[in-house]
Amino acid sequence: MRNMKRYRRSGNMNCMSHGALRRSSSHRAHPFVCRFCVEKKKKKASSVRFAAMSVQAVTAKMAEVELKDVAGKAASPAISPLTPKAEEKRSENNPTSPSAAAAAATVEPSPVTTAPNPVKMPQASAMKRPDPQQNGGEAFVNCDGTVAEAPRMKKIQFADQKQEFNKRPTKISRRSLSRSISQSSTDSYSSAASYTDSSDDETSPRDKQQKNSKGNADFCIKNIKQADFGRREIEIAEQEMPALMALRKRAQGEKPLAGAKIVGCTHITAQTAVLMETLSALGAQCRWAACNIYSTQNEVAAALAEGGFSVFAWKGESEDDFWWCIDRCVNVEGWQPNMILDDGGDLTHWIYKKYPNMFKKIKGIVEESVTGVHRLYQLSKAGKLCVPAMNVNDSVTKQKFDNLYCCRESILDGLKRTTDVMFGGKQVVVCGYGEVGKGCSAALKAMGSIVYVTEIDPICALQACMDGFRLVKLNEVIRQVDIVITCTGNKNVVVREYMDRMKNGCIVCNMGHSNTEIDVASLRTPELTWERVRSQVDHVIWPDGKRIVLLAEGRLLNLSCSTVPTFVLSITATTQALALIELYNAPEGRYKQDVYLLPKKMDEYVASLHLPTFDAHLTELSDEQAKYLGLNKNGPFKPNYYRY
Ligand code: NAD
Repeated sequence: MRNMKRYRRSGNMNCMSHGALRRSSSHRAHPFVCRFCVEKKKKKASSVRFAAMSVQAVTAKMAEVELKDVAGKAASPAISPLTPKAEEKRSENNPTSPSAAAAAATVEPSPVTTAPNPVKMPQASAMKRPDPQQNGGEAFVNCDGTVAEAPRMKKIQFADQKQEFNKRPTKISRRSLSRSISQSSTDSYSSAASYTDSSDDETSPRDKQQKNSKGNADFCIKNIKQADFGRREIEIAEQEMPALMALRKRAQGEKPLAGAKIVGCTHITAQTAVLMETLSALGAQCRWAACNIYSTQNEVAAALAEGGFSVFAWKGESEDDFWWCIDRCVNVEGWQPNMILDDGGDLTHWIYKKYPNMFKKIKGIVEESVTGVHRLYQLSKAGKLCVPAMNVNDSVTKQKFDNLYCCRESILDGLKRTTDVMFGGKQVVVCGYGEVGKGCSAALKAMGSIVYVTEIDPICALQACMDGFRLVKLNEVIRQVDIVITCTGNKNVVVREYMDRMKNGCIVCNMGHSNTEIDVASLRTPELTWERVRSQVDHVIWPDGKRIVLLAEGRLLNLSCSTVPTFVLSITATTQALALIELYNAPEGRYKQDVYLLPKKMDEYVASLHLPTFDAHLTELSDEQAKYLGLNKNGPFKPNYYRY
């Protein structure tokens, strides 16, 4: 890609593969390849399905339905979530606002839009992506209500399906159930999740009668009296979630989600509260449960309940509580959801299992997590997906910010909180130089650490070298390093043999998704002593007295031991809000019963909404330049295969 940029700068207009001049019309669509490249790729297209972030994506037809083209000033975002009418209204109200020019500008209505559609997106068929993973399977309910078993799918273990929810188990048995919920719902999201300590209150929220100040009792949380603390948390989060706040302002009187009944299952944190309140400001009714039994900020849940939201969540739920809360969100008299916002797929599966008929009224599912998205692709492949679904996990802004920037910031936080380690001069080895590894390495280098990198992929390895890191094999440095960090998404990267050779005091932690990167099981042998020295910090001691410092028992360090930057969550939350708006307003037929990626243009819009935070001034293409590059002045600015 660097070469391409160099080509562009130097004015060299020859194709890099064939040397041909790029003068045909296809060069406009694919400005860096010649017509031979395009034709070759077109031939391949019939046999190759679209894969996001891959060169195959060049064959995908983008933008059959164009986003509203607002030829506004650079200060305005490339697209607007509002209908032209609302834009007009806004600019009338505030003719000096930066987006007044955009409102006055020509609006090209989408040719297929028949219903008011606040956010128009490119035709989603172009954004389909096959499930990259092949394994797993699920018992599933067809649209007609019949139950079918999809082959080779990994089944979610539900709590006893026939269990009566008001017949609750004892505290001990509640805990004993906790193995049968999905992994994402037990991964600790943040040990610092709740700032108000209510651990001394042993009463289960299910045994409490609580009402908010308006007499509403349609919620179940730890303690409604914590609402004021929660409100302050939400206000702090709002400062770092500029795009959601901008969406609220832009909507003004208009309610693109009027009539939407959203049932959500996500981490219940201050950032989620900002999202929920935004959805509500845009006209939606929301009922919410937690997707993780540990991550709920009790005071935030209290603030939401005080604000009139039906929230069913608290920190430290049992498995039975977990499903009970989800059920309370869904199974309510006189209210039926028509949109799902899920993180992990548990809510979606609960509805499929228990209330399949609800899908007749549900317009779409928005899913955030890798796991949930994977399940949706499996359903789609098995022909069992009843409604359209949006995969927000694979949007560019989400991946870049979550994996690279989030880890760049939170690796230091996680290490510092657990060990108080000084980074300057320390020798660190980072295993894996993907997005997460790049973020971790950059942060530690900036703190003065001496950073080594291990890689299996020569491209990432070369990147590490070019970025100034020593590329090594783990066994070459394992005796000398002070910190080992795994970020590969692989298994058994740090095995017992390496841990035997580590020096005394070496810190070992993982930033990858699963806790299999470090072979923690191999440390549970009789000759080694485990000593819990702090929450999430274990000393593992060898017979000769050598000890290593194992963090979070090899689980994700940042999610277990620190918090995640709100700004990162803002990007994800904005993407979720826009996906909900789009699915809810899409005219019939635009989205089929399949999984769709967010269009590139929407990714760009999410980014553009965050730029004003930095007083960033985006350059606008001139007509001549747009023509030269074969681009629409308002985007999308990159093909789907662009790697950023
Ligand atoms: P990635 O695929 O971009 O990078 C992983 C890298 O590890 C690849 O370059 C791969 O070649 C390399 N690798 C694989 N096996 C290796 C081995 N044995 N030794 C050395 N290198 C090896 O993925 P990513 O986006 O960097 O994510 C990495 C992991 O982090 C994933 O499991 C992901 O789910 C997780 N993740 C964590 C966070 C967080 O907040 N902690 C955020 C996003 C993603």
